[in-house]
Amino acid sequence: MPRKQRDYGPVTVYQTSAPAVRTPSRWWRDAIGVSVATTVLIVVALWVHGGGLQDLLPNGPASAGPMLSSLGRLTGLVSADLLLLLVLLMARIPVVERLYGRGTLARWHRLVGFTSVNLMLAHIVLITLGYAAAAHTGTLAELWTLIATYPGMLLALLATAALILVAVTSMRAARGRLRYESWHLLHLYAYLGVGLAIPHELWTGTDFLSSPAATAYWWTMYALSMAAILGYRFGLPAYRTLRHQMRVEWVVAEGPGVWSVWLTGRALDRLPVRAGQFFNWRFLTGRGWTRAHPYSLSAAPQPGRLRITVKSLGDDSALVQRLRPGTRVLVEGPYGNLTAERRRRSRVTMIASGIGVTPLRALLEELPYRPGHATLIYRARTGADFTFQQELEELAKRRGIRLFLLPGKRADWATLNGPNASEQWAPAGYGDGIALLHRLVPDLAWHDVYICGPQGWMTSVSRAARALGVADDQLHTEEFTW
Ligand SMILES: Cc1cc2nc3c(=O)[nH]c(=O)nc-3n(C[C@H](O)[C@H](O)[C@H](O)COP(=O)(O)OP(=O)(O)OC[C@H]3O[C@@H](n4cnc5c(N)ncnc54)[C@H](O)[C@@H]3O)c2cc1C
Repeated sequence: MPRKQRDYGPVTVYQTSAPAVRTPSRWWRDAIGVSVATTVLIVVALWVHGGGLQDLLPNGPASAGPMLSSLGRLTGLVSADLLLLLVLLMARIPVVERLYGRGTLARWHRLVGFTSVNLMLAHIVLITLGYAAAAHTGTLAELWTLIATYPGMLLALLATAALILVAVTSMRAARGRLRYESWHLLHLYAYLGVGLAIPHELWTGTDFLSSPAATAYWWTMYALSMAAILGYRFGLPAYRTLRHQMRVEWVVAEGPGVWSVWLTGRALDRLPVRAGQFFNWRFLTGRGWTRAHPYSLSAAPQPGRLRITVKSLGDDSALVQRLRPGTRVLVEGPYGNLTAERRRRSRVTMIASGIGVTPLRALLEELPYRPGHATLIYRARTGADFTFQQELEELAKRRGIRLFLLPGKRADWATLNGPNASEQWAPAGYGDGIALLHRLVPDLAWHDVYICGPQGWMTSVSRAARALGVADDQLHTEEFTW
């Protein structure tokens, strides 16, 4: 039963207290979270076992050096551990991707990445200060001695430079100025950083080899990370590409600047893909094949056939219209968890903006629901910009979907992340966004809500849905941004 009422001007909003459903995936999510925390505890335990804690205890005037060095070792070890977890997080391990989704993983990636780099910097400062205090030398002189005389330190310096480069280019201000391709290429330097840091960890980092347990732990972590990257980022995509031999079947214009590409291949029914998911695609046309682009399926997978629909927004997406039948395709994926698996309720509402309609259209085809239990709210700039309008109207008629097309200019996007953000998702002229959403779907709190579109707009719709009582486990989102 609805529990609490809140007033949003002209509408009264009911907030549900319906219990969260505990699914096996939740259990696995907790288990993975606990394992991640355990690795950090293991690293701290190994440091304690190696005498790290004793070095922190004050032991006369000469204790500053060992204390600082010990803290330096701890920060270095945790930083190295987080870096390996980071590699595992982004290895695109299917079960991890399915459990957490791209958005959550990307947020963790940022948090763990910046924490690791900060700890690495603290490690460098503390170790240098500690060694300088012990040797009674100046800090810069000690830093030079460390780099010039300790084995593996020159490579560690290069590793530091690579990781700082990745961190700086990932800061929002810098990232916004870079093309996706440049940012992505620079980001690969993180792997270089991880690799170049290993020699100094083995040759000078006593904690790595201080006991058989420490040696086993670190080699296991390195082996797991390497295997995950090789297996899931290279092996699995290569296997799927070779196994399914996908090719372009034909290309159809869907509207201004929008084309659908139909793809065929071998044994496509064995490809574990669901409506709502996306692949990273490379079309072997000669131009631009080195850059993979993510496109979602725009139709539920059919026997022996898949469809994607692409809006021309830049160099490579504009080339899609010129694809010839028979063009070979390299794929990575499927990825994304905007799928039927996330469903919690019998009623469902889909909210799309622009080309973000693609995965939602596929889901509306695949999901089971009773007539009247599914709603699609679709905003676009003008009437001509509604991709699949005819298809959607036919689907709506056939399956009893409540379809709302909202044409109109964007509201002021500058305010999308401001205090009134939840009022701005609707196009200009539709008034308060929460009131509109409530008018369109009065019982939204009882629905699963799937949202897809650009980032700022999605933040706004999600806030409006939450204000109407939709719980986090009922909200399923896919951003079309990197
Ligand atoms: C999960 C996901 C699913 C998507 N599904 C669809 C879809 O079904 N249909 C569709 O038309 N578009 C989809 N997109 C957006 C599409 O990937 C970009 O429009 C496309 O990659 C632009 O490439 P470009 O070289 O033509 O443009 P560019 O000029 O390089 O860039 C245009 C815009 O696209 C972004 N972009 C470029 N390359 C990538 C990339 N590899 N990953 C993410 N963003 C990128 C850029 O940051 C920029 O904002 C999806 C994006 C994501 C993240």
